[in-house]
Amino acid sequence: MANLILLLGDQLTHDISSLREGNPDKDCVLMVEVMEEATYAWHHKKKIAFLFSAMRHFAESLKEEGWTVDYVQLDDEENTGSFSGEVERTLKRRDAEALLVTSAGEYRVQEMMEGWEERFGLPVRILEDDRFICSREEFREWAEDRKQFRMEYFYREMRKKTRLLMEDDGEPTGGEWNFDQQNRKPAKQDLFMPTPHQTEPDKITQSVLDMVSERFEDHPGKLDPFWFGVTHEDAQAVLDQFIAEALPCFGDYQDAMLKGEKFLYHSLLSLYINAGLLDPLEVCRRVDKAYRDGKAPLNSAEGFIRQILGWREYVRGVYWLKMPDYVDMNFLDAKRELPEFYWTGDTDMACLKAAIDQTLEEAYAHHIQRLMVTGNFALLAGIDPKAVHEWYLAVYADAYEWVELPNTLGMSQFADGGLLGSKPYAASGNYINKMSDYCGGCKYDVKQKTGEGSCPFNSLYWEFLIRNRSKLEDNPRMAQMYSTWERMSGDKQEAYLETAKAFLGQL
Ligand SMILES: Cc1cc2nc3c(=O)[nH]c(=O)nc-3n(C[C@H](O)[C@H](O)[C@H](O)COP(=O)(O)OP(=O)(O)OC[C@H]3O[C@@H](n4cnc5c(N)ncnc54)[C@H](O)[C@@H]3O)c2cc1C
Ligand code: SF4
Repeated sequence: MANLILLLGDQLTHDISSLREGNPDKDCVLMVEVMEEATYAWHHKKKIAFLFSAMRHFAESLKEEGWTVDYVQLDDEENTGSFSGEVERTLKRRDAEALLVTSAGEYRVQEMMEGWEERFGLPVRILEDDRFICSREEFREWAEDRKQFRMEYFYREMRKKTRLLMEDDGEPTGGEWNFDQQNRKPAKQDLFMPTPHQTEPDKITQSVLDMVSERFEDHPGKLDPFWFGVTHEDAQAVLDQFIAEALPCFGDYQDAMLKGEKFLYHSLLSLYINAGLLDPLEVCRRVDKAYRDGKAPLNSAEGFIRQILGWREYVRGVYWLKMPDYVDMNFLDAKRELPEFYWTGDTDMACLKAAIDQTLEEAYAHHIQRLMVTGNFALLAGIDPKAVHEWYLAVYADAYEWVELPNTLGMSQFADGGLLGSKPYAASGNYINKMSDYCGGCKYDVKQKTGEGSCPFNSLYWEFLIRNRSKLEDNPRMAQMYSTWERMSGDKQEAYLETAKAFLGQL
């Protein structure tokens, strides 16, 4: 045998660099389900089941293509439980001349792989992961000499590079780069709601589900019903249905939240893209085409493409530029423990309950629920950003550190001091009331600003601004809020601070 090719769980892509370099006639592919990865975060049961089932299906498809695949299941008796242990064991079994692997998504795993050449005493070739549209090096060059990064400028570069939604004269389609102003409509219960494509578990998935329910019983979340797709074909069906049914309204209602509507017009594609079952550029091209064919309006197509071409690539660039120090950043010095209700949904705050309950049921919440409900609350309450990061990494089926960490620590908790976003995403109950219908069924009164029964977000908002005044008041985007505070009467200010203190005291 010439090469041993190690394929990681989020590298389920047929033309990934390690497979492109390999030769099915001579090389062997190694895929392993390891306890170390399944438990380094307290992953949601559905997330574990999705990945193991998708890996098993992918291994089958490689065999059909003629590859020799060594697949180590979690319950194999000799499974050592770690990547290093499994590579070592395979090298003893198979006479490989070199190890081939595509770069890991996460710093921790990449660091481990970089030590293998010395450890195993054979050449280890770590190849670029070119499934991303912007390489790590290209992002580094873009970021060089910039004091502050702004996604919008990075995104424009990516539009020019890919020609997505661009005209022949080099101008953005529709004359603007960004149509976000049109994408902030609240939704109503009487709108037509598409249902995301659901996949029936097959025999492979069923055996994974049995294993997960037995071995990961104490992990968070519900396992049933399990309807995630686990193959490229399944993921393609989810994409097709999204484009046909949800994309036309994606833009208008991108920021909306509705009771009982877990998905609205969102795509639910992140878990497939992040695991390698869909190619991000291909997904964007399909959406560009849908716009050009008159099947989706521009604000939807642009809004969607910006999330993948802009945000997804941008957060990955920031992650690799700033790790390993990024994970320890805590600009606002937030120290409070994560409240227990994040793991149970047991809270009287209707917005938080809705977002957390559906997270535990589906391993999914959409962006505004993550950012403006669970994230906003943690930010205002001064929860330790590392604990918040560990929660997001655990509970979402699409969560990998490279994408989750900058979103949580940077965008949502402002723990990087404004490197990723220009101001904290802090909001009072008014924002949640405007963008959702949660407040109607809540024990708290969103219109009441202070005192017992008032919406906690209202007083926490001001207490947050005052607690962090020395760090935030020079931010030009925060100036208006501080001048509003200054214009308030002393009694009102005191009432806000007292109400917040009482709430935080019993948290
Ligand atoms: C605190 C916090 C934590 C997050 N953690 C993750 C995570 O672990 N994994 C993850 O993939 N996304 C994460 N996001 C980003 C975003 O919330 C999810 O990508 C999105 O909700 C996935 O659902 P969807 O596929 O229905 O997305 P849609 O709303 O349909 O968006 C389309 C696609 O755009 C991409 N996208 C959208 N927003 C972002 C973003 N901010 N960063 C990166 N990609 C984006 C995703 O690939 C997504 O599938 C996080 C956001 C916040 C605020
Ligand atoms: S009243 Fe406040 S806590 Fe209740 S749902 Fe509205 S924003 Fe959330």
